[in-house]
Order: sequence, then structure tokens, then C-alpha cells
Amino acid sequence: MILEDGFSRRFHYLRLSLTEACNFRCTYCLPDGYRPAGRKSFLTVDEIRRVVHGFAELGVKKIRLTGGEPSMRRDLPAIIETVANTAGIEKVAMTTNGYRLKERAAQWYDAGLRDLNVSIDSLDPRQFQLITGENKLAEILDGIEAAQAAGYHRIKVNSVLLKNLNDHELSQFLFWIKGQPIQLRLIELMQTGEMDARFQKHHQSGLPIKKRLLREGWLQQPKGQTDGPAEVFSHPDYLGQIGLIMPYSKDFCASCNRLRVSAVGKLHLCLFGEEGVALRDLLQDDSQHTELQTRILEGLTHKRETHFLHQGNSGVTPHLASIGG
Ligand code: SAM
Ligand code: SF4
Repeated sequence: MILEDGFSRRFHYLRLSLTEACNFRCTYCLPDGYRPAGRKSFLTVDEIRRVVHGFAELGVKKIRLTGGEPSMRRDLPAIIETVANTAGIEKVAMTTNGYRLKERAAQWYDAGLRDLNVSIDSLDPRQFQLITGENKLAEILDGIEAAQAAGYHRIKVNSVLLKNLNDHELSQFLFWIKGQPIQLRLIELMQTGEMDARFQKHHQSGLPIKKRLLREGWLQQPKGQTDGPAEVFSHPDYLGQIGLIMPYSKDFCASCNRLRVSAVGKLHLCLFGEEGVALRDLLQDDSQHTELQTRILEGLTHKRETHFLHQGNSGVTPHLASIGG
């Protein structure tokens, strides 16, 4: 039994959301902050253990913890340890806004976390605050230093391309990664259900950046099995790399190798355009293991070839914090 869809795409990579809550107010995600509709309960450590075991036996090798803001979970070290100790899981990664990174990087590393993606949309403290609602750039940069000292070798920095907000900062970012072994991931802004005119106002294509990189001697790298749809570029004069994530480009979905489980235990086959397959009722007891795997495999048969973002259809995803971007 392996995870393969009707378009011969295989899935070795699962993104697992730990919470929908977040303490930041990124202008493109939760501009008014996290506002829960009623009291929600997110997957427990036992439920996480069962879902990860189910996917690992079906061939998933890498798990990325995300959210919301995953570091808001008090039981995060126990979650990391549980996932890292699941047979078949070779790599545990996490995407974070950098909250608590400075204090906790070493503890998370000891629990088994190996890859970190830290989101930094601007290297200018005022602009950073304007975009995220928080004056925390210096603290987050200290967090990255603490993570490097703790032993994380593959730190990536996520930066959403935002016209009129950070599009003048590419040279500053390039200067930063010249002497830092960081992969800077430049992500095109994606339209979500709750995003209004801000999408048109701030969306910026990554293609001109790709052209600039190629012109300046950056070389595109071949992809590995668990690599996502990013196009990665290296340069002999730079310790860091650039990863371009362009969901609006042709063939982006052809290299899709990821599935998602939301913080309330729904399997999402795509970031956009579907309700998700409920799994939580099958995460209540170890004896439900086979039934869980059957539902996962059945769900995968419905994965579509591509998203419909080009048609402006962002489906039912209100913002990426709700599904684990
Ligand atoms: N809170 C954590 C963080 O910000 O890193 C993890 C969750 S966040 C939803 C994951 C990533 O999605 C972040 O790098 C964020 O910048 C990105 N993101 C959120 N909304 C987006 C959107 N509409 N388009 C593109 N990227 C988005
Ligand atoms: Fe929070 Fe991440 Fe969304 Fe920003 S992008 S509001 S940090 S979940």
C-alpha cells in the first residue's frame, strides 16, 4: 500500500497543523488576529501519534509541523518527540514565525526536530511590524542564531513576495544570505477566501526574480524526492540559496508531493478548493489503524490534478492559518 494519486504523484511528505491559533497578525493571513469561532480542540498527542503512524506505514517519511503558530502549543516538545520516534519517519521539520525560537531551539532539537522554516517577510524592523503586527524582527533573528548554535543545519527563511511592502528588499535579503547558510524561500502570495482587494494590491509574480537570479549567475538545482515544488537556485559566491515558490506558474501542481492534515484532523488533498476528509473519528483508538489507512487511501483517489487559483477560485480555505500553510 503506497500513497499515489490518479496522476502518478507519490506522497512522502505530510504537513501537520498543530493549531489554528496565532499570536501574529500578518496582513495577508490573519490581519485582525486569530478569532476562533467557538472553542476548538486541536489534535492531542495521542491522536497525532496515531495519524503519523498511519501515514508513515503508507510511505510518508517527512513530517512538517505547522499551524497557526505551532510554538503556541505547550506540549510541542512531546509532539516533536512522538513524531520523531515513529517508525518510518526520517525527518521532522517545523514552520514557525519564530516565537519562542531563541529560548526553545535547543529543546526542540533535543526532542528530534531537524529542519526549521522561519518566516521573515522583511529585514527592516518597521516594515516587519507593518506586515506582521509585531515588533519582533530582532528577537527572531536572535532565534535563528540560537537555532544555528543548537545544531540545525538546514534553516530556511520564508518570505512572502508583497508588492509595495517588501519588493524593494531583494538586494538586502541577498546580501544577508551571502555569508549565511540559509535558504531564502520567496513565496508568491496566494489568494485565500478571506483576502479582499489586498491580493490584487500586493500579489507579485516570482518570474522577474527568477530572471534576475539567472542573469546574475544563480544556477537552478535538481530536485530530491521529498523536496517540494520550490525551484532552488545556488551561486558560487553565496553560502545561502534561494527557493522560489510560484503557485501561479505553469506545472506547479505537477510536482505536488504533499498532503496536509489540519489541526482538527482533516486530510486536505490541496491547499485550495476542498472541504477535507475527516480522520479524527478514526484517531481515538489504536485498533482503528487499518480503518484509518483505508480512509486515507480512499480520500487520495479524489485528489485533483491542479488547483483553480488562476480562475480566482481559492475554494473554502479562509486563510492559510486554518489549514497549515
Ligand atoms: N505561523 C507560522 C509561520 O508563519 O511561519 C506557520 C504557519 S503560516 C500559515 C506558514 C507559511 O505560510 C508562512 O511562511 C506564511 O508566510 C505563509 N503564508 C500565509 N498566508 C499566505 C498566503 N496567502 N500566500 C502565501 N503564503 C502565505
Ligand atoms: Fe500567524 Fe503564520 Fe499566519 Fe502570520 S502567516 S498570521 S505568523 S499563521
